[in-house]
Amino acid sequence: MANATEKRVYNFSPGPAMLPVSVLQRARDEMLSLPGVGASVMEISHRSQAFLDIIEAAEANLRKLLGISDNYAVLFLQGGSRLQFSMVPMNLYAGKKSADYVVTGSWGKQAAGEAKKVGAVHTAYTAADTNFDRVPAEGEIDFDPDAAYVHYCCNETIQGVQFNGEPTPPEGVPLVCDASSDFLHRKVDVENYGLIYACAQKNAGPAGVTLVVIRKDLAELSSDDLPIYMNYKWHASENSLGNTPPTFAIYINKLVTDWLLDEVGGLDAMYEQNKKKALMLYDVLDASPDFYKGHAQVESRSVMNVTFNLPSDELTKAFIAEAEKHDLTELKGHRSVGGVRASIYNAMPVEGVEALRDFMKDFRDKHAN
Ligand code: PMP
Repeated sequence: MANATEKRVYNFSPGPAMLPVSVLQRARDEMLSLPGVGASVMEISHRSQAFLDIIEAAEANLRKLLGISDNYAVLFLQGGSRLQFSMVPMNLYAGKKSADYVVTGSWGKQAAGEAKKVGAVHTAYTAADTNFDRVPAEGEIDFDPDAAYVHYCCNETIQGVQFNGEPTPPEGVPLVCDASSDFLHRKVDVENYGLIYACAQKNAGPAGVTLVVIRKDLAELSSDDLPIYMNYKWHASENSLGNTPPTFAIYINKLVTDWLLDEVGGLDAMYEQNKKKALMLYDVLDASPDFYKGHAQVESRSVMNVTFNLPSDELTKAFIAEAEKHDLTELKGHRSVGGVRASIYNAMPVEGVEALRDFMKDFRDKHAN
């Protein structure tokens, strides 16, 4: 049976993904009683002072890490990013005829599909012709100046393609970003966005809480006719406490953001580490192009999800099975891309990536002709 002293594997899962060990240890230590409370975070009212202190600290940490100004509300919602696929169009069309979607992978495509149930969608860009291996150059996006908003996914988790900077919509058109799989991996200029959303289970905590950063004037657009849970204005006016929020997930998010601030030293330091980790794996791909074929075009490579194929299905299966024996787990690629996907989010230690890099080299040396 697993216990606190059992060895942990390096888990390359796309999500839910690894959490920092010190966060898990602290949660373990406080599991039976939060300091001074005599009960766990799961057993107290979301309106108790002890929980209000936690959610306020979680919000303050996010504001500090990302430099989020008072012009924005920070919401702690449920329903995952998929609910945001619907909430974004339900709240933000606000009388406009159409919204722009930039589609660089499976998640952007699904977000556009959900928006079509609410209003007209204009595909401002798609990389479908090359099985989503790239992000657009700035001039390639066909923006509609009258769009309600521009939606894009800054890191496509399945394909492993990532924007290195955000698109610039026409003046007055808000930018909406699905940042589910790279939220908090580096600093972004929040002022460039109307709304950023991210499910927590990659970089920000466990599944159950979804973070939404929304410009306050956009939250005001929500119609009172919307079902109440779908209404951003309501969540903002209730400080995410309108219904019982996912208290445990918010508590872990607070511990993760404490870790980013106090142990990692902020998002610039985190980004340096993330780039270093990704480069270690991409260097192996670049050194062995006949054996490991990266899915993403070089300029669009993700720092979070490294996707590649091997010369055959047999070798892919052998790679994944042998990696497991080295305690390198959850490396199977998504069926739409195939091959291998190594998700190396914030909490994946450098040593885990070093172990995978060394394994990749050994495997190649054994099996390449
Ligand atoms: N967007 C992206 C980029 C994702 O990676 C995911 C989950 N893998 C989702 C949306 C959907 O998130 P959820 O399962 O929380 O609804």
